[in-house]
Amino acid sequence: PLVLGIETSCDETGIGIVRGRTLLSNTIASSMDEHARYGGVVPEVAARAHLEALQPSIDAALTEAGVALDDLDAVAVTSGPGLAGALMVGVGAAKGLAVSIDKPLYAVNHLVGHIAADILTPDAEPLEYPTIALLVSGGHTSLLHVRDLTTDVELLGETVDDAAGEAFDKVARLLSLPYPGGPEIDRAALDGDPKAIRFPRGLSKASDLAKHRYDFSFSGLKTAVARWIERCDAEGIDVPVADVAASFREAVVDVLVTKALAACEDLGVPRLLLGGGVIANRRLREVALARAEAAGVTVRIPPLSLCTDNGAMIAALAAELISSGRRPSTLSFGADSTLPVTEIQVAERS
Ligand code: ATP
Ligand code: MG
Ligand code: FE
Repeated sequence: PLVLGIETSCDETGIGIVRGRTLLSNTIASSMDEHARYGGVVPEVAARAHLEALQPSIDAALTEAGVALDDLDAVAVTSGPGLAGALMVGVGAAKGLAVSIDKPLYAVNHLVGHIAADILTPDAEPLEYPTIALLVSGGHTSLLHVRDLTTDVELLGETVDDAAGEAFDKVARLLSLPYPGGPEIDRAALDGDPKAIRFPRGLSKASDLAKHRYDFSFSGLKTAVARWIERCDAEGIDVPVADVAASFREAVVDVLVTKALAACEDLGVPRLLLGGGVIANRRLREVALARAEAAGVTVRIPPLSLCTDNGAMIAALAAELISSGRRPSTLSFGADSTLPVTEIQVAERS
């Protein structure tokens, strides 16, 4: 099926068009620059930017794919989770589009969309199930057990406070590095020693593991970095930015990879899929690949343009739902900022 997907859960207005498992276009407009001076995504600013970017992005995606609106078999949209106002703009636009061209609409889960991104990876073998998926971005840090993309996705664990990308952004700010902090810390860490400072690994003590084996926590780490910087200031020494960045990054990467591989081992699943914008992190890829290989786990990393928020992954998920015979969504659904990952599609027509 030829599907146009709309993604507006955070600061990217993503419009993607797929034909089955083939990617035809993937247009992304980001309002990141507008959030830079606030050091994080401002919901109202994001919603307004989506409103302005949607129509031109839809036009651009259609042109790039070389298809007309009437050619589409279906429209797909992210109904959640994400920022309520931002989601609402995309949901409203998708309903309007579907109604105006009289085509079915599929309302889908953003996190499961991140898993579906893998399908569009050029020349990749089809993803085998079950697989463990680690999704790390500015808004989420989730570990999933995917038994079947369209019917059976289970949340194993998630962050109990900050998301991994958010931690990068906050620590960058502490180090007076610009937003978004991920790439900045990656760069600053190049000349640093990852073993210079032993920062805490959240929820990794035996007592925490009992209840939070697959959960993450990054706020304690962020506070530890803040204390460290304060101490430098108090003692009148220059903050060793490269060492702090490298040591902080190492702590984040260590927990992410350790917990993801623990899930693979516990559940006997030798496959790990990575997704989300934090996957851009060089050290994370390096450590994940090396430690997975040692553990006999195969790692899949889609191209970065499919790892960050995009509309193509939403279209790809809907195309899979259509191919497996699922009915479209009724128009009664709304944006759901806390949509659980088990709800792969919402409001399926009965
Ligand atoms: P969502 O949470 O809905 O997926 P988002 O816009 O917050 O949306 P992404 O766009 O996928 O997330 O990713 C942005 C986040 O990734 C930011 O927090 C950014 O700092 C982080 N990031 C980007 N590059 C790197 C990197 N090289 N290392 C670490 N973090 C990075
Ligand atoms: Mg983003
Ligand atoms: Fe996302």
